[in-house]
Amino acid sequence: QSQELSQVQIDYHAALQALVEDGTRMVCTGRMHTDRICRFESLCYSTEAEEFVFFHSNASVMLPNLGSRRFQPALLDLSSVEDHNTQYFNFVELPVAALKFMPKPVFVPDVALIANRFNPDNLMHVFHDDLLPIFYTMQQFPDLDLESRLFFMEGWNEGLHFDLYKLLSNKQPLLREQLKTLGRLLCFTKSYVGLSKITTWYQYGFVQPQGPKANILVSGNEIRHFSKFMMEKLNVSLEESASEEYIVVFSRTINRLILNEAELILALAQEFQMKTITVSIEDHSFSHIVRLISNASMLVSMHGAQLVMSLFLPRGATVVELFPYAINPEHYTPYKTLSALPGMDLQYIAWQNTDQENTVTFPDRPWDQGGIAHLDKAEQERIIKSKEVPRHLCCRNPEWLFRVYQDTRVDIPSLIQVIRQTVKLKPGPKKQKWTSGLYPGKVRDAKCQASVQGTSEAKLSVSWQIPWNLKYLKVREVKYEVWIQEQGENTYMPYILSHQNHTFSENIKPFTIYLVWIRCIFNKNLLGPFADVLLCST
Ligand code: UDP
Repeated sequence: QSQELSQVQIDYHAALQALVEDGTRMVCTGRMHTDRICRFESLCYSTEAEEFVFFHSNASVMLPNLGSRRFQPALLDLSSVEDHNTQYFNFVELPVAALKFMPKPVFVPDVALIANRFNPDNLMHVFHDDLLPIFYTMQQFPDLDLESRLFFMEGWNEGLHFDLYKLLSNKQPLLREQLKTLGRLLCFTKSYVGLSKITTWYQYGFVQPQGPKANILVSGNEIRHFSKFMMEKLNVSLEESASEEYIVVFSRTINRLILNEAELILALAQEFQMKTITVSIEDHSFSHIVRLISNASMLVSMHGAQLVMSLFLPRGATVVELFPYAINPEHYTPYKTLSALPGMDLQYIAWQNTDQENTVTFPDRPWDQGGIAHLDKAEQERIIKSKEVPRHLCCRNPEWLFRVYQDTRVDIPSLIQVIRQTVKLKPGPKKQKWTSGLYPGKVRDAKCQASVQGTSEAKLSVSWQIPWNLKYLKVREVKYEVWIQEQGENTYMPYILSHQNHTFSENIKPFTIYLVWIRCIFNKNLLGPFADVLLCST
């Protein structure tokens, strides 16, 4: 019954008339298929052809109108994973007159967000590729509110974490398979197609080995805003004043095991004098895990998708990621990158098993769980001898799978040692430092005055006022950077200054024009914009 679309009453005749008279209307944002999201009125979907349909009338609108470039390679990416050739969106075109010969349209009254989930059974993919992008796509378009409905077109079943997707809107999300039960020709009154990629921080290695995205545009602030939304929906309240501090070990119970987990827990508890508890996806509910993690001082886990849950950790907490033998932590950094997002305020520590005696391999398992029995003997031997998996592309590299699905006996002293290099006293939430991350505005009223002494010496006095926003901020350190460039030259002399005026005499020539660039710097690394260039003649 949750699949019923009739909760919002619509006037069937009016909807049909709009479709027949106006056809489909589309206006998109974005210049390329990789950054495009489109808004449609009267976009239809044939559940028999499994294709979207754009109906042309005299009043239909198609912007951008790409002609056949619409197929090179697609109008847009349906998932948040960039340019993946299984995730393309397009539609077929028909004149509205064709409706006469087609099944009677069934109208979807809810505002729809139509997208693909990328890998709904893997928690990292669920959060990074789907939940965060859906959440922020909805924030981008005001009519995608809690009353809108999600349509997942990738063709999977609900998947392991469907309950999480349900939190994003008040209406039950619908899957591609379910559309068939609604009708043969569905028409979305109002819909958005595609997902914002603005919050993603990691690329999985389809065209180059995996790593942080080249141009990360999200900060911890937006991640935490999202986590807070999820926690509210899960009825997990943030306990403000910490009651008792504790460590969470997030364990895997099926594969990539920690073989001496009991010993590890005891050692952590003893070393940091904190209660230490384990959770796993298999044994605990999602809200239970979120509740525990959101107040933890430290989260310890094997490399794996469950570590994405560190986005629920409180500021100042520590993430400890354990890597199996021959897996170089520097090459697999989705969780390191997350922890290091500006304003995420998490300390990240990687530990790797470097002792072959402490690893257990599974050469005879199926290939997708790291088995290598299907490879030829020489290749098997090479893999077994190798001390590090070379960089590789996603997703079926057998050497990578072999190594990442090893079980590990954690060498406790070496783990404690690497944690202690970062966590000196106690792990866990620290007092908030500065209202960090606010940038200076331009310096104002910059002026210069020149004086010439004789034929070879000159001085340039430059002064300026503080940026306008400084008087409202508490800033630990305010400095100014001044560049002095002789007109026509492409080099300049840089200076870092503490005051709002300075007289330059070094290398200043008489009867010369100088360009002076000034900007303000807060706390050493928050660089403001340069003010308009100052032209100074000596
Ligand atoms: N998973 C788990 N316990 C296990 C094995 C897997 O909770 O013992 C979860 C894991 O967190 C992820 C999903 O199952 O959400 C798929 O795991 P897989 O090993 O395929 O992916 P990875 O964790 O390497 O990204």
